[in-house]
Amino acid sequence: MSCRFYLPTTQSTCGLCYISKILMSDIIVTEKICKNYSLGTHVVRALVDVDLHVGMGEFLCIVGPSGSGKTTLLNLIGCLDVPTSGTVKMFGQYETAKLNDKETTLLRRDRIGFIFQSFNLLPVFNVMENVGLPLELQRVPKAELDKRVKALVEEVGLIEYAQHRPDELSGGQRQRVAVARALITNPQLVLADEPTANLDHDTGMAVLELMLEMNRNHGTTFIFSTHDPKVMGIAKRIVTVEDGRIKEDRNVA
Ligand code: ADP
Ligand code: MG
Repeated sequence: MSCRFYLPTTQSTCGLCYISKILMSDIIVTEKICKNYSLGTHVVRALVDVDLHVGMGEFLCIVGPSGSGKTTLLNLIGCLDVPTSGTVKMFGQYETAKLNDKETTLLRRDRIGFIFQSFNLLPVFNVMENVGLPLELQRVPKAELDKRVKALVEEVGLIEYAQHRPDELSGGQRQRVAVARALITNPQLVLADEPTANLDHDTGMAVLELMLEMNRNHGTTFIFSTHDPKVMGIAKRIVTVEDGRIKEDRNVA
């Protein structure tokens, strides 16, 4: 690719090139990242020389068997951890290992949404309260918060369940709440680690279709992981990891 967001600013570039650079810019660039975990005297090489570029608005699936490094890779992209070597650059400007704790917290709070396999909803909060929590953390005024939460809860098809608590919802409905919670701050990136693992096939597909719809409607970049080949079909790009390395990276028509 000729247009890269990391071109030196002194480099002259034509107007069209500049616009396409903004539209197609990579929001994630990993360069030769390795992640080692120490287990006593044993070192687990969870990621080995991973180079990955993800553009704005992509809908990307990371696939691989259990233990292949999917969660480790998502954790590094989500600024939950830093690589042992190599670099992770986010949003064209931040190298994650160089951020301090406050910068990391703000980056995650304001620009990245997370969806987990086990939903991670607060059991004592109802749907509206769970979805609104990230806005509470941003100290968004109540009237605006209520308006935004209501609109998104409606968009994910749960307005009739607005006052229900998680234990009064099905697994698919809970994951819809988690999708709404991940999107409520309008993040540029949503990371979902095996979001369908605790759902049956049809329910899992419905959740992924909701994510795809949100990707289309809001332009949000989605990266989800799975070890289930059946749900890969919905992705536009499939990155296969095996033993901590990228084995294949293909676009799907
Ligand atoms: P996946 O999500 O594809 O199942 P992971 O990223 O969780 O894979 O794990 C990749 C490898 O790293 C596995 O061998 C796993 O046992 C190891 N691993 C992951 N997290 C840790 C950790 N905190 N400490 C030690 N080893 C870990
Ligand atoms: Mg995992």
